[in-house]
Amino acid sequence: MSLPEYFTPDLLTVISTNRCTAECKHCCMNSGFKRKEKVSTETALITIKKLHELFHIKCVVFAGGEPTLHKDLLSEAIPLCKSLGINSRLITNASWASNYGKTKKYLHELYESGLDELNISFDDYHAKFIDPKNIVNAWNASKEINFKSVYIANSQDYRSKITSSYIMNLLGENLPLRFDDDGKSTIVFDKENKNIGISNSKIMYLFKGMDEIDPDLPHFSQTALYMPCHNIIKRLALNPFNHIIGCCGFELKNNEFLDFGPVDGNDLQRLLIDASDDIIIKALYRFGPGFLLRYAARYNSDIKIRKNYNSICEVCYDLMHQKVASDFINEHCTDIAKILFTAEHR
Ligand code: SF4
Repeated sequence: MSLPEYFTPDLLTVISTNRCTAECKHCCMNSGFKRKEKVSTETALITIKKLHELFHIKCVVFAGGEPTLHKDLLSEAIPLCKSLGINSRLITNASWASNYGKTKKYLHELYESGLDELNISFDDYHAKFIDPKNIVNAWNASKEINFKSVYIANSQDYRSKITSSYIMNLLGENLPLRFDDDGKSTIVFDKENKNIGISNSKIMYLFKGMDEIDPDLPHFSQTALYMPCHNIIKRLALNPFNHIIGCCGFELKNNEFLDFGPVDGNDLQRLLIDASDDIIIKALYRFGPGFLLRYAARYNSDIKIRKNYNSICEVCYDLMHQKVASDFINEHCTDIAKILFTAEHR
């Protein structure tokens, strides 16, 4: 038995650690100084090899927290990706880049070990912990190294100080923006050329950042409420607890829908096939979290839907973190299966 094409994984994010040198309120992974978890290097290597063998995945992303705090993982997994022909990408806050000479040396070592792509996170929340000089150092040093792509990842809303224009001023360069106002990628990746720019996205109000939602946010299109999720299983993640999870939308520790279980001691292919057979996973793929949230809210007025959603993962968070909503969809799996059946056989 195999996975249907639309669920076949092509990317793995290794959420190497929840520990971070910054305490960003809007971090999807709920990371911070006090978190201690780290993925096992051995489990990460086994997972990468297995996903290569089964599905020929194209890309492994090293994220956190701050993945450069997990040096042994990077020093083994990046060369492994290179040897298997898998693209590797590092997402970092550049906390290590205070000295230009050392920054250049570190990036050169990463490149020599096989790293293909660099993403540097910088926005209002990181700026409280990271000196802008570090971003300039990492950016300028990366230009002397032949990475396939280098992006500054910037999350912003209408109140943000650190915007795409701020970053361009800081770096003294005009840079392409990766996304348009609707979040659609406007950049065509060219394998032959180096791609650089700003990966501009809207802030995700998750975890600690929930307290900061402006009740009078300017209204914008609520497409996130109506979108299906085509990342699920296709863009898998391994979390710092060594569990394989359906995506990296937010911290999915023990999530009853999207935590597929520990890699150690399990057959990874079996875990993924079981997940792909699950009614809620299929409904997330086909209809999206907004459909399930609105379906549940129609029958239970205790279930809340926010006025504004910045991203589909915020909608998913509200579906899975309101117990009354997640209980409702669990209890109504048979009805959801019937809706799916009808949609698939129309
Ligand atoms: S919408 Fe849900 S399933 Fe899809 S990527 Fe976001 S958190 Fe994951």
